[in-house]
Amino acid sequence: MAQQPSEGEGGFVTDLECSLSGERSPPDRLASLSRLGKPLLVRYDLERVRRALTPSLLEKRPPSLWRYRELLPVRRSENIVSLGETMTPLLSLPRLAEVLRASGGILVKDEGRLPTGSFKARGLALAVSMAKELGVSSMAMPSNGNAGAALAAYASRAGIRSFVFCPEDTPEVNIREIAMQGAEVFLVDGLIDECGKFVAEGEKALGWFNASTLREPYRIEGKKTMGLELAEQLGWKLPDVIFYPTGGGTGLIGMWKAFAELEALGWIGERKPRMVAVQAAGCAPMVKAFEAGEEHAPRWENASTFAAGIRVPQAIGDFLILRAVRESRGFAIAVDDEAIAAAWREVAEEEGLLLCPEGAATYAAYKKARAEGRVTAEESIVLYNCASGLKYAMPPAGRRIEAGKPIDWHQFSDRGRVPLVP
Ligand SMILES: *Cc1c(COP(=O)(O)O)cnc(C)c1O
Repeated sequence: MAQQPSEGEGGFVTDLECSLSGERSPPDRLASLSRLGKPLLVRYDLERVRRALTPSLLEKRPPSLWRYRELLPVRRSENIVSLGETMTPLLSLPRLAEVLRASGGILVKDEGRLPTGSFKARGLALAVSMAKELGVSSMAMPSNGNAGAALAAYASRAGIRSFVFCPEDTPEVNIREIAMQGAEVFLVDGLIDECGKFVAEGEKALGWFNASTLREPYRIEGKKTMGLELAEQLGWKLPDVIFYPTGGGTGLIGMWKAFAELEALGWIGERKPRMVAVQAAGCAPMVKAFEAGEEHAPRWENASTFAAGIRVPQAIGDFLILRAVRESRGFAIAVDDEAIAAAWREVAEEEGLLLCPEGAATYAAYKKARAEGRVTAEESIVLYNCASGLKYAMPPAGRRIEAGKPIDWHQFSDRGRVPLVP
């Protein structure tokens, strides 16, 4: 049963560190928040990692996130729970870059190729592997869909029971895939933070392990591999600007942590990308706090957007998101649902790449930022597409034609393409 996806070794963790006070505590335990109620960050002996691992050693390893084993918290390889966490491609958008005169180039990191069809697999592969290592028997979380699906899949793979609480208007496909992959799924007539309250209550009553965003320190270590992988794929030269669709912010915080670790290892220089937090206009707490110069982002009331993955009214890691954005000299930007929908269609039609709406939001944000002069044509850009577009309800399509009746073939000649009826 045990899988050995890479030749590396774990065991380089030294401490868990409070992200607010810096207070250190022992690793290798079932951790939740720090004494101050803030997220804990995993710290490594990077000096030892530097001696154990080099970029050329990495090149020989299988193409999965487990190639960064020395920078991940799992101690023993037999505890790795894997569904095939492949390295995801970096795809250019040549046609759109030309139209937008984006001479620095636009790349999409297509995370929809991961198990369960979203980058939540990275975080949950780590969280569940650690839960297995630490002897957990049941786990729970609130989810807008993709995180719950990844928890369900990895927990079932590990023989751990799982419980997922979703807002009742979560896309149907997500709710059903969570159930199909073995979790108990509950529908709540509220938003994700209200789902989180049930998870916390059940934690007290039933003793399940709470795997909510940033309430345990290991999901972020999985999400961190997005930054490690990006750096490696670009030959240890990072892009000028990263656009990241921001909900709870694990990915943005994780990538910023990855870049700091790579700099400490001496694999990249001081120059790091500007981090741009992209949100939907109907739920933009980070944008509001960024513009107000605040360190924390109060709850966004009446949050609404069809990009479900970024409908997060309040984030426990708000100060870490804002810190990363400011330290990197980036910014936070909101785009409305209309712009997201138009971007979704544009990238699919012009480049043949069906993003998820949250990924499309990053393209809409890039265009808006260019129009506002906040990024230049020469800057190299990476957009994060977080999930497969196939997981989302698409607009109805298909022209009816009747069998055996004559057809006016010229009706199909618009745009020089023949529309295919599914
Ligand atoms: C979870 C999710 C996000 C937000 O990611 P965070 O790192 O939690 O901010 C964006 N898009 C999709 C599709 C997601 O599932």
